[in-house]
Amino acid sequence: MIPPPIERVLVVVAHPDDPEFPAAGTIATLTDGGAVVTYVIVTDGSKGTGDRSLTGPALAALRVDEQRAAARVLGVEDIVFLGLPDGEVVADLALRHAITREIRRHQPDIVITHDPSTYYTDTYVNHPDHRAVGQATLEAVFPTARDFLNAPHLLAEGLEVHKVREVWLTINPNPDHIVDISAVIDRKITALHAHRSQFGDPDALAQRVRERAATIGAAGGLALAEGFKRIVLPA
Ligand SMILES: [Zn+2]
Repeated sequence: MIPPPIERVLVVVAHPDDPEFPAAGTIATLTDGGAVVTYVIVTDGSKGTGDRSLTGPALAALRVDEQRAAARVLGVEDIVFLGLPDGEVVADLALRHAITREIRRHQPDIVITHDPSTYYTDTYVNHPDHRAVGQATLEAVFPTARDFLNAPHLLAEGLEVHKVREVWLTINPNPDHIVDISAVIDRKITALHAHRSQFGDPDALAQRVRERAATIGAAGGLALAEGFKRIVLPA
């Protein structure tokens, strides 16, 4: 059976740059294929720096501009900034409902978000905001966006229930959905370079991105890839 086309995608992440690091190539491929991709950036990104000349609000303003520039490279125009304080996200009911509002508003076929089960690996401790946003997003997908008696204030606002078809989770150590990004790797790197406040040497970043894509690709017989844990929900 030919799967139905992917028309709308919602990317729900904690910080500016979180869409691009694990998924820029996939996002570019989706928009090239005609899908409308919308970002929901949960925090203001106001703590992600070691530069002591920057204040939190100045950094937050910078990162909004960086995120818009990065998204534009990938064909994404619509970005919702929820503006929660960076580093303080809790997967509470308020966040679940805020994400549910965006799911009901945008009616996505696919939701891309953080894998909340990735706590740490041998070389990496996952940011608590990533885990919290991933958890709240899964809880929003099911049951809150789907079932009308959940968050009744949203239905009262005219936001109809919505069934998401699939969720693709980023930064899972054992991805089972491998996307070929060989043709769009340069756009991924260009998009990441837009996040100037987050990276030092642009060449080192490009090399790191290529190496990571090659490692993920090797598992699927591809030159360069991104990987996700894929959840296919019942119709
Ligand atoms: Zn992040």
